[in-house]
Parts: sequence; structure tokens; C-alpha cells
Amino acid sequence: MSDLIQLLPDAIANQIAAGEVVQRPASALKELLENSLDAGAKHIKVIVKDGGKQLIQVIDDGGGMSITDARMSFERHATSKIRKSEDLFCIRTFGFRGEALASIAAVAQVEMKTKRGQDELGTLLCVEGSEVRKQEPVQCANGTSIAVKNLFFNVPARRNFLKSNAVETKHLVEEFQRIALSYPEVSFSFFQNDMQLFSLSPGKLSKRIVGVLGQGYQDQLVVCQEETSLLRIKGYIGKPGSAKKTRGDQYFFVNNRYIKSSYLHHAVVNAFEGLMAADQHPFYVLFLEIDPSHIDINVHPTKTEIKFDDERTVYGVLKAAIKQALGAHLVVPTIDFSV
Ligand code: ADP
Ligand code: MG
Repeated sequence: MSDLIQLLPDAIANQIAAGEVVQRPASALKELLENSLDAGAKHIKVIVKDGGKQLIQVIDDGGGMSITDARMSFERHATSKIRKSEDLFCIRTFGFRGEALASIAAVAQVEMKTKRGQDELGTLLCVEGSEVRKQEPVQCANGTSIAVKNLFFNVPARRNFLKSNAVETKHLVEEFQRIALSYPEVSFSFFQNDMQLFSLSPGKLSKRIVGVLGQGYQDQLVVCQEETSLLRIKGYIGKPGSAKKTRGDQYFFVNNRYIKSSYLHHAVVNAFEGLMAADQHPFYVLFLEIDPSHIDINVHPTKTEIKFDDERTVYGVLKAAIKQALGAHLVVPTIDFSV
């Protein structure tokens, strides 16, 4: 009998990989925004239509790509961000897997325009279901524009699985908000079906919080700052009076990457003990900076979970920092600085 095993063609391999990287329009938006930030963009414009089902477009003024790089960027495991396995232990960029564009282009119609500052002309590249349909020189601005059209056009099961436009828009906005919060020095705008939902000029974090999450936080922010040999914490917590019954505006960023951590959330809640009702949730936007060699962000493909080498110390430092911030601003008589 003849042998049975064959390597999958790239288009199919990419489509399978896409299942992990691109669950919904918001995951594609996240990847595009992260690429723009990795490329050093200072201005980023987002356009989405029909909850991202028709269009997700990100336009940046970052470094742009050469013709060859533009073509390479759609190959799987093709990245400019790491070169050797040791690099995995000190990642300072969002990307490093080299999978996002290949995955997105496997399940959508993608149009990229990109130009580096030193080039006269840019490159227009159209890729559809992993097939390059068009590649030609184009006059365009410095930076990169990537339009993702008709996500999952070739995977009907996944397309049908998408939620209503309203729900998908909510996810897109949440993803945008996380990224916009973590880069107050970058200007962002967000349009949905030709309506501008956000216009964020560069500035301080406090201004960005209000721009992203609403005027309601204007007078509710308490500075939180702490530095130890292991980590640095900075950001804002809400005054206890601003705590809400519904969970919502809680943000942790580790080395500027949004993460979810019920363990660290617990540290914050614990620090608020006695200052708010047990069924309330405090507001916070907290940035933790830690040597990348002390964390592993490779745990989960979407990278919203990370592992700390020394989780308990991080917990302790965080809790102490919050207690201190609350103490300084609220002059609470019984401050316990122990962790
Ligand atoms: P990764 O970000 O993990 O490297 P991606 O598939 O997201 O993988 O992108 C592949 C490569 O394409 C990146 O490493 C980068 O060199 C290039 N690239 C993608 N988006 C942009 C952009 N907006 N500006 C400049 N280069 C980009
Ligand atoms: Mg990327």
C-alpha cells in the first residue's frame, strides 16, 4: 500500500491556523492595530463597516514596508520581530509569531497599501484566500493601510457564526479602547459606518482615559505609582465612590500589552477592602512594567494571558501600591501597608 501522509498546501494550513488567530472581526482589528504600533505609528485611523463583517481597515503612519517585505508579510511564520529562539524570552513588540497577516488573508479579501519614507512609490497588494491577486506600484502616503474585507467569505460556517453587527461592533470598540488606552501618546480615530465614534489626540494618560471611557471619570481618578526591583506600576484607580455594580472598566497592561488576570484583579479588590461594598467593582487602568525575561507571554495564542515567574510578589506589590494610593488620596484612618 502506498503512503498516506501529505503536507497540507499553504492555503489550507493558513486557513486552519486562522481559526486560532481570527475568531471574529475584533481579533483581526487587534492584530492590525498591534502591527501599526509595532511599526512605530503616531497616527492610526480605524474604519469598520457592518460590525467589521464588510470592512476592517487600519491606516497608519508607521515605517511601512519594502516591496519584498509587503509580499513576505503574508507568509506564515514570517516576521521582522524575532530571529532566534532566545529572542522569545525578551519580547518587546506585540507581534512575534508572524501568523496574523497570513491567517487573516487566508479567510478574507485583503488590500494593503504600504510605503516607506525613503521610497518614491509604495506597493499595492491584494490577497484573497491566501492567493495574491494583484501586486503593483502605487502612489500612497508613508505608512501602511490594510483593509480586510468580507471576513470569512470562504468559510461560511464561521461567517454564520458571527453575531449581530451591534455585538461585533461592541467587540471591535472594546479592542480599540484597550489599545488606545495603552498608547496615550499616539493619536487614534475610529469610524464605524461613516460615523466617527472616537477622536483621540495624543496626551496624558488621564486625558486618554476620559477620551476613551467617558467624561464620568474626569474627577474620579487617583494616581497609583510604585517601583520595586522587580516591577514598576503606574496608572490610575477610581475613587471608591466610583465603583460600580457591574464589572467593566478594569484594565491591566503588562509591558503595554492588555492582559486578563483574575489573580491580579483580586489583589486590587483586596486593597479596596472596607472601602466599597462587597458587590462592587473598582475602576482601574494599571500599567505593570517588568523585565520581559520574568514573564511568559507565549501561553495563549491571543496573548491575553501571561505567566509571571513570581506571581505572588507581583500580587503583593500591586496590593500595597493600591493601598498606598488610596491612603494618600482618601486619608483613610486605618491603612494597612502589609501585604
Ligand atoms: P508579526 O506581527 O507576529 O511579526 P504579522 O503577520 O502580524 O506577524 O506581520 C508580519 C510582518 O509584517 C511583521 O513582522 C511586520 O514586519 C510586517 N507588518 C505588518 N503590519 C505592518 C504595518 N502596519 N506596518 C509595517 N509593517 C507591518
Ligand atoms: Mg502582528
